[in-house]
Amino acid sequence: MQSKPNIQITKSWRKSISMSFDKKGVLQVKAPKFMLSWQIESFIEKNEAWIEKHYNKIRERQENKKYYLFWKEQIDFESLKDLQKYYKSEAKKYIVPRCRELAEKYWFTHEWIRITSASTRWGSCSSKKTLNFSYRLIMAPSESIDYLIIHELCHLRQMNHGPRFWAEVAAIMPNYKIFEKHLKTDGWKYTL
Ligand SMILES: [Zn+2]
Repeated sequence: MQSKPNIQITKSWRKSISMSFDKKGVLQVKAPKFMLSWQIESFIEKNEAWIEKHYNKIRERQENKKYYLFWKEQIDFESLKDLQKYYKSEAKKYIVPRCRELAEKYWFTHEWIRITSASTRWGSCSSKKTLNFSYRLIMAPSESIDYLIIHELCHLRQMNHGPRFWAEVAAIMPNYKIFEKHLKTDGWKYTL
């Protein structure tokens, strides 16, 4: 990685200028539509110390990046493109049959099971009974994968997160809270 971040400036109908780093370490600057280039540049210059500090932190994290499969660290990977392909095929091999198995065991009827590239959610269940799972899920421990599958399966009966929904989940997996929490607190590690 280079020593200065790439900067992306986006203008829109907003009142003030702001900036933040995205997941890839690109500095995203959001500016009001009529702000002049020199004003934007001087804003960036003024915040140089903040930018440097945060950019170094991101770089450090990327350099120490660990790749997981079922919560075990994997280190022999080369390019990001192949890496995603690898995880997707592993996810297909494991999550799809596991989902079928659990569905059968607990009497759920569903349509397609898909592995997606979703980065902000682990899974989803559509009104057409299609189940989607992010390939990233394969990085998590198998109990957490089971929890997520059960979570989505229960949406086939309850399309909400109400008490009835959670009662369905708990009936199948009484200790589900441990795994739900794990995905919430450690989930950030399961990215490429
Ligand atoms: Zn849900």
